[in-house]
Amino acid sequence: MLARDVCYPMGAMARHWGRGLAAAALALACASPAPPAGTRGDAPPSASPQIPVDAKVADDVNGFLAPNTQDLDGAPAYVHYTPEDMPLHVDVQLPKLAARYSSREATDAAVIEAIRGWEAAIQTVLPWFKLEIVRGERDAQIHVEWKTRITGDASGRGGISWQVAGGRLRARGWFEYATSPCQEIYCQLDVDELKLVVTHEFGHTLGLGHCLDCNSAMNYSWETRKRTLITDVDLRTIRALYALPNGTRADGNLMLALRPKTGGEEEKTAQ
Ligand SMILES: [Zn+2]
Repeated sequence: MLARDVCYPMGAMARHWGRGLAAAALALACASPAPPAGTRGDAPPSASPQIPVDAKVADDVNGFLAPNTQDLDGAPAYVHYTPEDMPLHVDVQLPKLAARYSSREATDAAVIEAIRGWEAAIQTVLPWFKLEIVRGERDAQIHVEWKTRITGDASGRGGISWQVAGGRLRARGWFEYATSPCQEIYCQLDVDELKLVVTHEFGHTLGLGHCLDCNSAMNYSWETRKRTLITDVDLRTIRALYALPNGTRADGNLMLALRPKTGGEEEKTAQ
């Protein structure tokens, strides 16, 4: 039995970035399952068998490209990071609990290594893409939070959101992970499992959804993910997403907040 992710609208993003955003959208937050029950007493499979709403089968051109957020009126839309966002600051919280057989320092290094894996892979198709790992930076565009436990026997959860500040759309990413994703004694990810979780969740913060039938870091099956890290289909999807004008709706128009003002309308700005 394979554990499955669940995806649902996530409205709590704003707490990371405070008030005063000109626009902040709901983002899809996708939970990674805890590892399936195995020989070492790991977490039981998720009780939730439903298929994520954004699950896709990849095609050759655009990978598993799918809308990753909503416009203010609820219309599906695509957001991503841009060259103006580089280097993309990723605020990584230190783990309070180490991975199995590991130190906190080595656990932290594994999280960063998994994040850096995306940078190295993406630079082969988007040379301008650059990350900077920071600590305790509230304004960082991506936040990585360590949790003792994720709700519902998940080991991670991540998503992308957006705001408009100064007339410019900025994507904001976020994910959280746990080294001990369930309540049983001995339920603790080892470093390699943690890297798989972080790789998957960071894919969500980059704007990727799931793919049902892919060799992909974004396949939501834990068993498949054990054999798969970042692949060509992931990079095709990133390239297709990041080639779109940022804030493109699924109907082809720009998001409402990015359209020219009709006059008399006061533009709101972020704090
Ligand atoms: Zn997921």
